[in-house]
Amino acid sequence: MSQRSRTTRRRFLQQSSLAGLACALPSPVLLASTSVSGHAVVKNRAPLAPSAFYPLPLTHIRPTGWLRRQLVIQANGLTGHLDETWPDVGQNSGWLGGTGESWERGPYYLDGLIPLAWLLDDARLKAKAQKYVDWILTHQAANGMIGPASNDDWWPRIVALKALTQYQEFTGDPRVVPLMDRYFRYQLAELPKRPLRDWGKFRWQDELLSVIWLYNRTGAAYLLDLARLLHQQGYDWTAQYANFQYKEKITAEFIKLNEGGGLKDLALATHGVNNGQAIKTGPVWSLVSGSDTDRKATAQMIAELDRYHGLPNGMFSCDEHLSGRDPSQGSELCTVVEYMFSLARALAITGDPALGDRLEKLAYNALPGTLTDDMWAHQYNQEPNQVECSLHHKPWVSDGPESNLFGLEPNFGCCTANYHQGWPKFAGSLFLLSGGQDSDANDGIVAAAYAPCELRTTLRGTSVHILEETEYPFRGKVLLAVSPAAPLEFPLQFRIPAWAAGATIAVNGRSEPQPAAGSFARIQRTWKSGDRVEIEFPMQPRVSSWFNDSVAIERGPLVFSYGIGESWVKLRERGMTADWQVYPSTPWNYAVQLDSGGMASSIAVSESEVGAVPFSRKTTPVQLRVKARKIPAWRAEDGVANSLPQSPVASNEVEEEITLVPYATAKLRITAFPVLKS
Ligand SMILES: [Zn+2]
Repeated sequence: MSQRSRTTRRRFLQQSSLAGLACALPSPVLLASTSVSGHAVVKNRAPLAPSAFYPLPLTHIRPTGWLRRQLVIQANGLTGHLDETWPDVGQNSGWLGGTGESWERGPYYLDGLIPLAWLLDDARLKAKAQKYVDWILTHQAANGMIGPASNDDWWPRIVALKALTQYQEFTGDPRVVPLMDRYFRYQLAELPKRPLRDWGKFRWQDELLSVIWLYNRTGAAYLLDLARLLHQQGYDWTAQYANFQYKEKITAEFIKLNEGGGLKDLALATHGVNNGQAIKTGPVWSLVSGSDTDRKATAQMIAELDRYHGLPNGMFSCDEHLSGRDPSQGSELCTVVEYMFSLARALAITGDPALGDRLEKLAYNALPGTLTDDMWAHQYNQEPNQVECSLHHKPWVSDGPESNLFGLEPNFGCCTANYHQGWPKFAGSLFLLSGGQDSDANDGIVAAAYAPCELRTTLRGTSVHILEETEYPFRGKVLLAVSPAAPLEFPLQFRIPAWAAGATIAVNGRSEPQPAAGSFARIQRTWKSGDRVEIEFPMQPRVSSWFNDSVAIERGPLVFSYGIGESWVKLRERGMTADWQVYPSTPWNYAVQLDSGGMASSIAVSESEVGAVPFSRKTTPVQLRVKARKIPAWRAEDGVANSLPQSPVASNEVEEEITLVPYATAKLRITAFPVLKS
């Protein structure tokens, strides 16, 4: 968000008043105690359409290995201390009853703090989150409204509901379901008079998730009326992408940023975060509509965003409106984490394995690539070809000169509040449940994304423990020790990424039929304690094609970059953290030499230990070596690499061998390379 939106927000805060309409509320539905348990799998309730897979209760998955280390880094970093150093979520927050920030920042912070606190079972973080939750749960207005009385915007409440549903799943707190029931009854009565607008209108699908969450627990029919009303008042994302018009880098003039404070429909329809959140819209709405076209809309959206705005780190450009395929354009951190959450939800509903491939690509590249190793500082915008992080106005569509600095709140504080959900929600979506909507007879487990973790769940009354040991994404081997409390027949499914042709699966040392790339491999058998599944993904480097026929080098789910020498210069202290500029200390203008046919077979791979900080330049767990030559005419202007020369390119410079490291470990980097003429 920008200065314009900030002004607009102030204006609406002045205009809005406490929604104090008297509203005779029907009493909440009676709830069977089993249906509101925090720890039971909840499937879709008729007449909702079935999902391919279902999220497991958040208490069932625990991160281990490098993933747990990453979450501990986050807890020790800004996430675990944000309220101590940033007044917007501090003691005076409107979401604690204070007179301070009362819009989206409190709920954003909770949306990541809650899963981090409970996944780590960290008492200090749980206590921090509980303060906000208790305030929300004990300050519901008589008419059902929740949140600070100083504004009545639907949007921040959409975020608060996402946070509350997670909190309920972790704790089983019996206050959450009745509060949501009263709120949704109030909103159903209120929306015809005070419809969704601006952010809420473009982000309605995130509320739909919470409406469906509650419907699956209570079965109250009015919730389906509310779902249909949200769809009716919300922006039609599926139509936007059925006939996609925004094929070029957006300009401030095109979206009339000077009129309407960036809140006109055209600005909101091309806004990065809105699009990241919108990626789940079709599948989530398909649960209500039953439409196959809706269910397939996510693949269509991603295809259009890739075609016109796709970047080699898996993101689409958005700085902060859609900004074309040039790898010097940026992507906002809020969009990274919202895109990840959308992918996890869309994957569960559709069962499309490609969404899991993309989820891993964002989690293992774009997310850690825009945070410092210690997670005390982040960027607003990251660039795949990021040659300098300094105060400059280029090349952003609508963002300010601080946008790619590492700091407390570069450009605007939305990402400061919102990025905390990235790692913990990813950890919570590693495993899913498969099975029929009306019976648990065919229930099974799905490995949707890979990282070290532990699953403890129950299938047909038998507890099942799965220990996943792996150094994926740095290595290709994944070991799963499957231990049901008693022998139990059920299907185990494994996502085989589209890049993983030649992957192998063995059970107790015996090879299974070779799985197809881009599918879910399924093994149905009577599992017994001590069974071991060994998956081996092929990890030879691959070449992918980007802007101006440039290439990126990938290996497994990791994208690789040339790590430019970094000189970190502190711009200013910011309480417990600081703002940093980063200047290049080595040349970066390399074109790479590929083998004939554009192959990567001569690229050498070296592996070393996965360090205490998994994504760190100091201890990169894997490096690649590739032949390259400099392109003297390719330079930076105002801290930005000029547009990539059209490949193939010629160079008379001396041949060098350069080292590529995981994208996320290089905070200055070249990721899309020109290709030398062979
Ligand atoms: Zn943001």
